[in-house]
Amino acid sequence: MPQIKILPPDLRNKIAAGEVIERPASVVKELIENSIDAESTDIRIDILYGGKRLIRVLDNGMGMDKEDTLLCFERHATSKLATEDDLFNIKTMGFRGEALPSIASVSKVKIVTGIKGSRSGISLEIIGGEVKEIRDSPSMGTSVEVTDLFFNTPARKKFLKSNSTEVFHIIDTVTKEALSHWDIGFRLISDNKENMNVPFSSGPRERIMQVYGEEFLNGLSEAGAEAAGIKMISYVTKGDNFRNMKSHQFIFINRRPIRDQSVVHAVYQAYEGFLPRDRHPIFFLFIDLDPRKVDFNVHPAKREVRFEDKESVYRFVNNCIRKTVKGERTDYTKQFTEVPDTKSVPFSETCSSSHSLPLVLQESVISENLELVYKTSLPFIYLGDTFIAVSGMGGLSLIDHHAAHERILYEKFLKGIDLGSHRLLFPRQVRLSHKEYRVILENVPMLKDFGIELDDFGHETVIVRSLPDILKDADINGILSDIAACMLEGVSPDKSFKEALAAKIACHSSIRGKEILNQEEFSNLITDLEQTEHPDQCPHGRPTRIFFSLDDLKKMFKRK
Ligand code: ADP
Ligand code: MG
Repeated sequence: MPQIKILPPDLRNKIAAGEVIERPASVVKELIENSIDAESTDIRIDILYGGKRLIRVLDNGMGMDKEDTLLCFERHATSKLATEDDLFNIKTMGFRGEALPSIASVSKVKIVTGIKGSRSGISLEIIGGEVKEIRDSPSMGTSVEVTDLFFNTPARKKFLKSNSTEVFHIIDTVTKEALSHWDIGFRLISDNKENMNVPFSSGPRERIMQVYGEEFLNGLSEAGAEAAGIKMISYVTKGDNFRNMKSHQFIFINRRPIRDQSVVHAVYQAYEGFLPRDRHPIFFLFIDLDPRKVDFNVHPAKREVRFEDKESVYRFVNNCIRKTVKGERTDYTKQFTEVPDTKSVPFSETCSSSHSLPLVLQESVISENLELVYKTSLPFIYLGDTFIAVSGMGGLSLIDHHAAHERILYEKFLKGIDLGSHRLLFPRQVRLSHKEYRVILENVPMLKDFGIELDDFGHETVIVRSLPDILKDADINGILSDIAACMLEGVSPDKSFKEALAAKIACHSSIRGKEILNQEEFSNLITDLEQTEHPDQCPHGRPTRIFFSLDDLKKMFKRK
């Protein structure tokens, strides 16, 4: 008697669903990827009870007409592939035409969808794979609501973990999709509480910052590389920023989150010699590959890929990360091995004389007759890390370089000149207190006069898009916070609002202690100071320089 039977469609579907839909997070992944393929710019995900009771994904994408809506729940129904050739040149997240029928066979699904720009739409309900209701329902974009997941597959349901564990998996899924689709806004609401909200961003760097914050981002090195048919931008552990866990390790190929041991190994190998035992680097690799050189049709949930040339991908990733790690290590050791050449002057040094006495010196002379001159490359002396002593104009000048720089910047800000404001390649997100946030937004035009351009980013946060060159390494958080305080407190009557703000910004951005100027920077400082309206005082009224003439010195030494 024959033993072989063809399985009934219902069972076939459930078996197929088992491969794609493992848990609520898999439903979320498939629905989000459909929304991405539908060119949505905003995707909202609502879940109840860890997605066991409800998963709803709402998008503003292209939507579907009635015919497609009825068809999309059929197995192997897809708008993304037409020929076999397409299978080896995949540019969409989906292509197997399996997700919706799989989801529908193990849950209750309601889809409401309408073609973008049309007034009509359709609502369709399917329970356990069977169509229950079809209605006209005007809508734009698509909402897919999945309730009672695995209601008809109790064995599967048993494997689900606690609600909080399932939420954790969903957050993970949304995070991965959000990281690689930075140009889409994502919101995740779990049990009516907002869990995640990341609006449109300009690139992966900004997206990492939105998700993990600025401090986290500061612990990473950025590097880009490109070769024939492959491109990568990466954010990887900087310095000793290693972790005990392998969380924060992401590989995206053509914006698809994947797992690949060989690529992971390429990263670890790049850290060889620096990576302590049992520690792990953080990495975010955004790799773009010619779709003809990678096969995505390997894993039902598309978590793995097959590279046409695995070794060259390995070498490419390894080289790029190794260069980043090495370069950064060299910078790190430099500060301990190289002494700034302007720091101290050996007093025994003597060489030929000069009487040229502009304050910007080639060589300095401190005496009328005895010509004791410092080495050409060392014309000034640092006293501590704030004061500079320099001889010239027949005497000795002591300069407070912090105060001098403050004066220069103050006048530049006040006059709005020479600020060299540039759009940031990676806009900076600054979180403020509620009050600061409001007052900063009310004064956007004035900040623009200072070369600071910013936009509202919601949630007490502004996104800084342009900054003057001199502020590009400054503590922008501190600056905005101080400006806001100044705006809130008001200014003293002897000063204009603009003067007060210019002084605040100048103070923040001027050279901080510890920074030692080199020859050229020092010369520029002195020249710029000379050109200000009040070179002798900083904006707060402190002296920028004190001059002792030879006569003064003689008197002090009781020679006169
Ligand atoms: P695949 O994504 O592999 O094509 P799915 O079963 O996930 O298969 O979806 C089937 C089809 O339904 C898609 O090819 C697409 O045409 C359509 N579709 C699904 N979700 C959406 C959506 N959110 N917006 C517009 N069309 C959608
Ligand atoms: Mg799909």
